Amino acid sequence: MNEIQLQIEENPASTVVIGTHPTNLLGLDRAGLEDFFEAIGEKKFRATQVMKWIHQLGVVDFQAMNNLSKSLRNQLTESSCIQNLEVSKDLLSTDGTRKWLLKLSDGNHIEAVFIPEEDRGTLCVSSQVGCALDCSFCSTGRQGFNRNLTAAEIISQVWLASQLLDEEKKPGRKITNVVLMGMGEPLLNFDNVVNAVRIMMDDFAYGLSKRRVTVSTAGVVPAMDRLGDTLDMRLAVSLHASNDTLRNDLVPVNKKYPLKELMAACRRFIDKQNSRSRITFEYVMLEGINDQPEQARELISLLRGIPTLMNLIPFNPFEDSGYRTPSKNAVSRFRSILHDSGMTTVVRKTRGEDIDAACGQLAGKIQDKSRRHRRFSEPRFGME
Ligand code: SAH
Repeated sequence: MNEIQLQIEENPASTVVIGTHPTNLLGLDRAGLEDFFEAIGEKKFRATQVMKWIHQLGVVDFQAMNNLSKSLRNQLTESSCIQNLEVSKDLLSTDGTRKWLLKLSDGNHIEAVFIPEEDRGTLCVSSQVGCALDCSFCSTGRQGFNRNLTAAEIISQVWLASQLLDEEKKPGRKITNVVLMGMGEPLLNFDNVVNAVRIMMDDFAYGLSKRRVTVSTAGVVPAMDRLGDTLDMRLAVSLHASNDTLRNDLVPVNKKYPLKELMAACRRFIDKQNSRSRITFEYVMLEGINDQPEQARELISLLRGIPTLMNLIPFNPFEDSGYRTPSKNAVSRFRSILHDSGMTTVVRKTRGEDIDAACGQLAGKIQDKSRRHRRFSEPRFGME
C-alpha cells in the first residue's frame, strides 16, 4: 500500500466517544449525531433538533435549546460541548473580502476567507494546518505539514463566518458557496472533510446544494475516486501544467499520479456525478513557465472530452517565491486560445490583497518557520 492511501485510511471518521471527555457536537454530521443520541439512550430525531440549534440558530449553550427536556440539556452540558475556534484576527479588505486568522486549541493557526461577489458569497476554508504537497508556487507549502483539521475545526470556520457576517447586518454578506481551497490538501484529510461537507449540505445545517460546495485537490487520484463514490459535489483540480515534465516540478504529487492517471480519474469522477457537472481546473499563471501559447494548445488536447471550467489564476507573488506574475497581455492571449477552442475560461480576479487574503497567500505568517527545515528532512510519499 502506498503512503498516501495509508494516510487516508489511518484517519478514521470522527467517532463518538462517550464518557471520558466531552464530545464536540459541532463536528458531527447527521448520522454522527444520531449515533450519539442513540448511545445516550435518546431518540434519533434529537440530531436534527440540535443541528438546527447549532448551525442555523448559532446557539452553543445547551440550556438555551428549549425544545429539549431539562434533563437532556443537563446531560448534554455534562457529556458534550460545542467548541468553536478562537478568532485571533478579523480583517476586512477595502473590496469587502474578510479574512479570519483562527486559533486551534493546540495553539496552531489557520485561515478562512469570505469573498463577496455580485451574485454570491464564497467562503474559502482550510482543511489542514500547513500542507505536505509542497507545490512550488504555494506559500502554504513553504510551512510544511503540521496536522489534519478535525471535522469540527473545518465546520467551525463556516459557523464562525456565518455568525460574524450576520452581525454585519448588511445585504449580500451571506455564505452561498464554500470552497475547500484554503490551507491544506482536503483529500489527504478525507473523512473529516467529508463529514464537514455533509454538514454544509445538510438542510438542517447550512443547506448548501451540491453545486455550491467545491473540494479542490492537487490530484490525489485514489481519493478522487473515493470522493466520487461518497459524495455528489463539485471538484476542482489544481492543474497548473499541461505536461508531466513541468507538472512534476510545480506539483510534485504528479510524480506519483501523473497526468494520464489524473485525467482518467477526472473522467471517472464526472461519470459518477449527474450529467450537468463539470470539473473546475485551476491554473496558476507563472511568467515564462506555463503562460506560453503552445502550452495553451497542449492544455486543450489534454482536456479534450472532459467537461471543463478553466480558472486562470494570475500568480500572487510572495517573498522569495522565485516566480513572477505574467503581464495582462500574456494572460489574455492564453485565455483567448482556450476560449476560442470552446473551453469555458475565466481569469480569477485577485481579491483582498490589502489583507493578504489573496489566493495562495494563506501562509499564516505567525507560524513557526522551523517546521520548514523539518519538512525538508522528511521523506514525502517516497518521491525523493
Ligand atoms: N491542495 C488543494 C487545495 C488548496 S487550494 C489544491 O491544490 O487544490 C490551492 C489553490 O491555491 C491552487 O489551485 C492555486 O490555484 C492557488 N494558489 C496557491 N498558491 C498560489 C499563488 N501563489 N498564487 C495564486 N494562486 C495560488
